[in-house]
Amino acid sequence: MAVTRTFSIIKPDATRRNLTGAVTKMLEDAGLRVVASKRIHMSREQAEGFYAVHKERPFFGELVDFMISGPVVVQVLEGEGAMQRNRDVMGATNPKDAAPGTIRAELAESIEANTVHGSDSDENAAIEIAYFFKPEEIVG
Ligand code: ATP
Ligand code: MG
Repeated sequence: MAVTRTFSIIKPDATRRNLTGAVTKMLEDAGLRVVASKRIHMSREQAEGFYAVHKERPFFGELVDFMISGPVVVQVLEGEGAMQRNRDVMGATNPKDAAPGTIRAELAESIEANTVHGSDSDENAAIEIAYFFKPEEIVG
């Protein structure tokens, strides 16, 4: 399988609980390599732009409020089939439905405060990486 890249966010519920390392270890143990990483506090405009695909959904306002409630860590992950590999280790959106051993099953607080974001297609991964990183900030 080809080595590809995907985009990840360690969300505010995780940075608040000092779980940046714990999440990153689970990503690395799943065969992903962190090739770019930075801790940022998103502006409202930045979060609204990032989640624009969800703007008609009833939880959009709360989701944006949550994502700007504290710092996040944005990362580019590299590995064989990186997008699907990351989705697999993240687990289902709702931690109640997430398989044991996944990040959300082990660490998430709720369907909203669910610890991590991961791109859901290779096309979206490229868009999301470019939203937060310049090419020279990614070192494979
Ligand atoms: P993400 O995009 O964060 O990786 P996902 O792809 O599993 O998660 P999406 O359907 O894209 O889930 O929803 C984006 C985010 O919106 C979820 O991660 C979660 O934080 C929030 N969310 C989704 N559904 C709900 C809901 N019913 N109520 C509250 N928040 C929700
Ligand atoms: Mg999603």
